[in-house]
Amino acid sequence: MDAPRLRHFASDNYSGICPEAWDSLQKANFGHARAYGDDAFTQQAADLLREVFETDCEVFFVFNGTAANSLALASCCQSYHSILCHQMAHVETDECGAPEYFSNGTKLLLLPGEHGQIRPDDIANAVKKRNDIHYPKPRAVTVTQATEVGTVYSVDQLRAIGTQAKASGLKFHMDGARFANAVESLGVTPKEITWQCGLDVLCFGGTKNGMPVGEAVVFFNRDMAREFEFRCKQSGQLASKMRFLSAPWVGMLQDGAWLRHARHANTMAALLESELRGVPGVNLLFPRQANGVFAELPLATIEALHARGWLFYTFIGAGGCRFMCGWDTQAEDIASFVSDLRELL
Ligand SMILES: *Cc1c(COP(=O)(O)O)cnc(C)c1O
Repeated sequence: MDAPRLRHFASDNYSGICPEAWDSLQKANFGHARAYGDDAFTQQAADLLREVFETDCEVFFVFNGTAANSLALASCCQSYHSILCHQMAHVETDECGAPEYFSNGTKLLLLPGEHGQIRPDDIANAVKKRNDIHYPKPRAVTVTQATEVGTVYSVDQLRAIGTQAKASGLKFHMDGARFANAVESLGVTPKEITWQCGLDVLCFGGTKNGMPVGEAVVFFNRDMAREFEFRCKQSGQLASKMRFLSAPWVGMLQDGAWLRHARHANTMAALLESELRGVPGVNLLFPRQANGVFAELPLATIEALHARGWLFYTFIGAGGCRFMCGWDTQAEDIASFVSDLRELL
């Protein structure tokens, strides 16, 4: 039997822990430290995030992205409000109703849009459509950056959404599970695609970028952060040994590892994309702008690849496959996958 495959293209959260996060965890593992976030690592991680965003934002660390998104969105809204999002948004399709649950019923309203992206006009229309007491009043809009289909909102697109959100009286939230990949792809500073576009709160993903666990909720609108620590505690998201949630952030942020890993993952996806372009019978589905490549393959080929042990997701309709690259994807992984694909097609 062949040796088991070390790496797959299923998700960037299939990867292990990157050396920077691991070293930092190890450094945090000494003696005693104050619990629940009153420790030096948590302070340093929050300060580093303020440096990265070049502003005095308020920062919280939680265990995962679903909690980060749900709690951040809940802090924008009352239960009778609604949140506008793309119909393919993770908050709609992959969080099991957690945004509604943690907000005590705030409804998600779905918007269409090419390439997994929403448009200012659709936001305006959704808000204008009704203002009677029977309609859940829109109070927030959320975008995913990079999107669920591997595209990236440009600075101009985000500015336009931010301007529309403000005009429509909406809070502006970003699901940044792959924020690092978006920053790297655009070649911008983090502030240019966040608070400078009017963003109120960002859920900044660490897990998919090489951390063991943990996401940061970054409030640029500090008023909205009021009592957020109570939301975290009530929902079971306040880590008692917080230093082990925050220390990996120190390792990721202090020497730019977060961007290096994102650059590597994006570069690997670009390589995979160019390889797939050369394979007859493969149809690429969305513009590749971050660390994911989406392609249509014959159903029999998908089955055969799975039979050879390749793991990847196929949730984009019949024949639609998603191939994610991570901080640890190697050119050999791509060569080996593409060679199997060529053989099978
Ligand atoms: C992975 C991901 C999340 C976070 O998911 P968890 O499994 O809850 O950590 C959030 N949004 C998007 C777009 C994601 O891809």
